Amino acid sequence: MYATVSLYTWAQAICTAVAPNRLTTYVIMTANPGSRKYPDRRMMTPTGLLGVSDALERLLGEFRPLESEVIPVDEALGRVLAEPLIAPLDLPPFANSSMDGYAVRTADVAGAGPGSPVTLNVAVDIPAGARPPSVTLRPGLAARIMTGAPLPPGADAVVPIEATDDAGGASGAPPPLEVRILHPAPAGAHVRQPGEDIRAGDTALPAGRAIRAVEVGLLAALGRREVAVVRQPRVAILSTGDELAGADQPLGPGQIRDSNSYALAALITTYGGRPLRLGTAPDRLKAVRARLREAVAAGADLIVSSAGVSVGAYDVVRQAVEAEGQIGFWRIRMRPGKPMAFGRVKSVPFLGLPGNPVSAVVTFEIFARPAILKMGGRAALKKPQVAVRLSEEVDSDGRESYLRALVERDGAHYVARLTGGQGSNLITSLTRANALVIVPAGVTHVAAGETLTAWMLDWPEHLI
Ligand code: AMP
Ligand code: MG
Repeated sequence: MYATVSLYTWAQAICTAVAPNRLTTYVIMTANPGSRKYPDRRMMTPTGLLGVSDALERLLGEFRPLESEVIPVDEALGRVLAEPLIAPLDLPPFANSSMDGYAVRTADVAGAGPGSPVTLNVAVDIPAGARPPSVTLRPGLAARIMTGAPLPPGADAVVPIEATDDAGGASGAPPPLEVRILHPAPAGAHVRQPGEDIRAGDTALPAGRAIRAVEVGLLAALGRREVAVVRQPRVAILSTGDELAGADQPLGPGQIRDSNSYALAALITTYGGRPLRLGTAPDRLKAVRARLREAVAAGADLIVSSAGVSVGAYDVVRQAVEAEGQIGFWRIRMRPGKPMAFGRVKSVPFLGLPGNPVSAVVTFEIFARPAILKMGGRAALKKPQVAVRLSEEVDSDGRESYLRALVERDGAHYVARLTGGQGSNLITSLTRANALVIVPAGVTHVAAGETLTAWMLDWPEHLI
């Protein structure tokens, strides 16, 4: 393994210089074993396995944001802008009132006070949606005006209804003939100026911005019905294993349900991808190869498999990938998830996740999630993290460990307690967790009360 990864690293350096977008092929690695005199040890850990952050860096180097597509604005939630949004008009488009009240000339009401009200004749009534009145507000005149209604020419302030003697009538009642103003109003009071939010021609949203509900609102405010966004990555999912039964099949002796493809499809959707289900394949080279070719034919941007990627006698996935493409790296110094593999099937990136359900989910979170986010146009790829105090001691075998935990706030701190057994088959302890607490590589014991980093699983990260 040590020599294999070293040679891969060396071969990759050469091939990156020649063809930066292609993964080094295994053929190159094995065809030139003798020509490497000084293996590059940078990617290695003392155990001969690839470290998590090195693996992630290499993997992410293989992904680019996808091309754009135009979609209706009301389907844009969660997508990423492919182009900057330039305001085609001022917001607000015209001067309007921010209060229900009376539009006035400030000079007329400068001396107003509760003991010395100024009486103005009400010349016009301006509801929201009215055309701006053509008559100019002359001295001594006021206009009754509603929130959002255009200011009449000549008016330079609005006096809220509460600062007048208008007690407010029934809905739809006509305005009084005259109104007493009880307070002065500085110029511009309660007037929303055109373009104070954004000016026509300015950038309202930059390219790369994730579209949340408020961005949908801004797109609509600027009159957009369609928007160019980064295409969603299509992620093919393949479950491998002779023991797998579909959800609709009876469970025979020695069989278990294929749960990974369901969890992985849900994760792909969570991170903005489109899952393409390929079903299950038995532990047979021919069958797995056929499914991989199917994924390529279906236009997958990434292929994710689970199981069959370790050192078992029937683990055929790496062999299948090598036959259809190449393996870039395999085995990570982490727990759970050590046997993860990365490569390409034809030109499509491939991630071979371990079969144990917790390993599959954790390796997906670490490796597939940022790859999907990056293809989807997102710049923020890091998982939300907090510093947590351990409520109990934990042991590790020196691999970077991701422990299922429930993180809760305790005063000014977050406290983490494990949610149960950490075996990589124990999915229920993951369902009780809202975080993965990370024990760094090389650390074998952490005492209760020590502080570690936790990846939060349930924070609204799509808002980042
Ligand atoms: P493997 O990686 O093939 O050695 O599988 C590791 C463990 O994961 C075995 O106990 C498998 O039965 C289990 N496993 C494999 N595939 C799935 C799946 N799709 N859903 C749930 N468990 C699985
Ligand atoms: Mg297996």
